[in-house]
Amino acid sequence: MTAEIKIDTALERERDPVGAIQQQLRAAVERLTLPQTVYELLRLPMRAIKVAIPVHLEAGGYRLFEGWRVQHSDVLGPTKGGIRFHPAVSEQEVTALAMWMSYKTAANGLPLGGAKGGVRVDPRALSVRELEQLSRGYVRLLRNEMGPRRDIPAPDVNTDARIMGWMADEYMQLVGQSEPGFVTGKPLVLGGSPGRLEATGRGVVVTVREVLRARGQRLAGARVAVQGFGNAGRVAARRFAEAGARVVAVSDSRAAVYCEQGLAVPALIAHKQRTGSVGGFPGAEPIGQEELLTLEVEVLVPAALENAITEELAPRVRARVIAEAANGPTTAAADAILRQRDIWVIPDIVCNAGGVIVSYFEWVQNTTGYLWTARKVERLCEDKLVQTCAALLGCAEQLGLDLRQAAYTLAVERLAEGLRARGRLNEQGAPR
Ligand code: GLU
Repeated sequence: MTAEIKIDTALERERDPVGAIQQQLRAAVERLTLPQTVYELLRLPMRAIKVAIPVHLEAGGYRLFEGWRVQHSDVLGPTKGGIRFHPAVSEQEVTALAMWMSYKTAANGLPLGGAKGGVRVDPRALSVRELEQLSRGYVRLLRNEMGPRRDIPAPDVNTDARIMGWMADEYMQLVGQSEPGFVTGKPLVLGGSPGRLEATGRGVVVTVREVLRARGQRLAGARVAVQGFGNAGRVAARRFAEAGARVVAVSDSRAAVYCEQGLAVPALIAHKQRTGSVGGFPGAEPIGQEELLTLEVEVLVPAALENAITEELAPRVRARVIAEAANGPTTAAADAILRQRDIWVIPDIVCNAGGVIVSYFEWVQNTTGYLWTARKVERLCEDKLVQTCAALLGCAEQLGLDLRQAAYTLAVERLAEGLRARGRLNEQGAPR
């Protein structure tokens, strides 16, 4: 007899964000009294490509790694979005991430669409040479689907400037010409933008400051807990501390630490660099990783992966504001509970948009061949986020919505305007 595999479908459904995104889309279409065609045209990604990337292992032999590139919508411009390397990547996950990118670029008024890539791999198990082959192989298989005027990749979970450098080189060798706008988040020397590395984390702090201000609160003195100490979480924690907030807890995939007076973030960053984890940081207390999510703080920053805040956890959250530095850290069921409890969630598509905003600036710099200063990049990114936050808070207030609903309203309004301007909403004609 074969063992029966039990799948908890309710849990599966809760953890599948595609349905939740479609629901946000549908609600926004109805709220804005837009034609149903808008929903139909944006409900699914326009293109999803699957690849199998061969890597010649140093131990001998080849191994194939599965990867995807999902392009959701190019209504507002070339599709844009990062590539993640993670053992749990699936087409379903990449699809949700691609959809979030479309709403993120639209909500922030960027002339870009949305896409995402992913490779199912544990990059820590690969040597540097294997990782380079994998990165180059991904570009080789997708070269015709991507490009500076078509679909522009960038870093995401477990990918960084070095990997973007390999990808840029591979693409330019394949097409036989200089195309720095093929990818963003590149090393500076290849046309990367100053400030791109810090952009996501910095942006998180800007959006938190704006939202706290609307609630009559200040960043200075606020207690902050950060889940995840990758690029976004690490930079955000540092900036929170610089702004006078008290970063009382931080976690990574291995451990979580707490210090009531506030952690010395620069020393913690150095400790993690040295030891590979935040665990064992002198002067801090070890706590449970889940415990971090239920601490009594003003601001909770999930900066790791999807589905960190679930229906089961949401009733125990004690933060007043949740800042989604990660993409999709709150499930739809948890969202509903948080709304009832009047906990404000700054949605991912605004909260972590600093990254793609500076990616946009990088792409603009690449098209003109002129590099901006770090100050200019930072100032323009902050201006953009402040503008988005004002629109978001205004929309939420005016229509009686939570911040996620307001963000989707702004995004869908702009996408619908794009569809209309392209003549795709003509109810008489066939939608294309
Ligand atoms: N991966 C980042 C995100 O999820 C940045 C994407 C980009 O810069 O294109 O927003």
